[in-house]
Amino acid sequence: MIKYCKRCVMPDTKPDLRLDEEGICNACRSFERRKEIDWAIRKKELVKVLEKYRSKDSSKWDCIIPVSGGKDSTYQVLRMLQFGMNPLCVTATTCHLSEIGRKNIENIKNLGVDYVEFSPNKVIRRKLNRIGLIQVGDISWPEHVGIFTIPVRAAVQYNVPLIIWGENSQNEYGGPAGDAENNVLTRRWLEEFGGLLGLRVSDLIGMEGIEKKHLIPYTYPTDEELRAAGATGIFLGYYLPWDGYSNALISQSFGFSTLNTTVEGSCVNYENLDNHQTGIHDYFKFIKFAFGRTSDIVSLHIRRGRLTREDGMTIVKHLDGKFPWTYLGKPIEDILQPLDITFDEFIKICDRFTNKKLFLCDSRGVLIKDKKGNVTKINYDNEK
Ligand SMILES: [Zn+2]
Repeated sequence: MIKYCKRCVMPDTKPDLRLDEEGICNACRSFERRKEIDWAIRKKELVKVLEKYRSKDSSKWDCIIPVSGGKDSTYQVLRMLQFGMNPLCVTATTCHLSEIGRKNIENIKNLGVDYVEFSPNKVIRRKLNRIGLIQVGDISWPEHVGIFTIPVRAAVQYNVPLIIWGENSQNEYGGPAGDAENNVLTRRWLEEFGGLLGLRVSDLIGMEGIEKKHLIPYTYPTDEELRAAGATGIFLGYYLPWDGYSNALISQSFGFSTLNTTVEGSCVNYENLDNHQTGIHDYFKFIKFAFGRTSDIVSLHIRRGRLTREDGMTIVKHLDGKFPWTYLGKPIEDILQPLDITFDEFIKICDRFTNKKLFLCDSRGVLIKDKKGNVTKINYDNEK
């Protein structure tokens, strides 16, 4: 049986999720501890860090902000401008950029910042998507590596030490820039926070004609380069109370566009709008670990008192983990076609990565699917 947190809707099949003796998950416990935080003190700490790294003679930028164009990065830019910072915004282009994603990138440029967009070799990128999907069941592997490596490369390249990251999954840690003793980024730190999911960049050399030279955008600078640039960073979510929904409201009031319908596989219209492959990424999370994007979003809202657990569960049953026939309106065949993967091949890959212990199978051990190709979890909530 799948066990669920008694407070939110997350299952214990999620990697790194632990339920305590009361049946509450570590994410809910961590959110609970946020109530004790003195945000006024944290804000003062932030101002101190920003002052320390601000360019004294205006000869270079004050900080690097990694921006996808999403609600959170738009919020990061707005906040840094409010603090009087002169940022250089850096985008690592997504694997399959959507129209609305492009629109939101243009919106960030119009907020009044200097901006660089880095687009890795698309031929190599598609090979990496293919390898990621087939080998580790993660089509977004190169994107998740690149959003960490590319801004760090920019920090070294432009000699701008401070990187302003958004939320930190650990929540209790402000990042090396706020650390009195050890405030330089190291590869060890980067590898811990910019997780590579067991598939290392160096493993890729030799696959499908990929050479070392093709992997520069996915490789961190050396420790010497990091030290020479004094590269460091903070997580804004440590210093300012972080809430994706309020970030979306703030960003929307400064031109950020949302979809006119909820995103496929999700229950909201204000996030994950910039990459047509995200639907496949989220679907694989579901078939491997029995939770999709809807479970994540619903849990965030439950913790903040905007949804009851009962209503949240109803939404999850209704929307979570549906087969990704389209994403941001694009049919799956059109999303797979550039990767040279047919629909039939895709189904085989899905079945290979579906955890048969978590989804209903027939007596021969074959996954049971409905007319729309959806699989069914063995249980959707704890037994009463
Ligand atoms: Zn929970």
